[in-house]
Amino acid sequence: MKTLCKVSNVEKSLKRIVKAAAKPRYICGKCGRLSKEKVLLCKPLKCKPLKIPGK
Ligand SMILES: [Zn+2]
Repeated sequence: MKTLCKVSNVEKSLKRIVKAAAKPRYICGKCGRLSKEKVLLCKPLKCKPLKIPGK
C-alpha cells in the first residue's frame, strides 16, 4: 500500500487522506502529514493527541 506521503493526486485520494488524518496519532517528520496509522507515513513521529477546544 502506498503511504500517504507518496500520494501525488491528493484530490483523488482525499477520502483516504481525510479518514487517516481524522484522529491522528502520528505526524510525518518529513512531509508534515497526519495519520492514525504509522505505516502510512515515510518518517512517522508520534504525536500526542491534540485537544481541540470545544470538544
Ligand atoms: Zn512523509
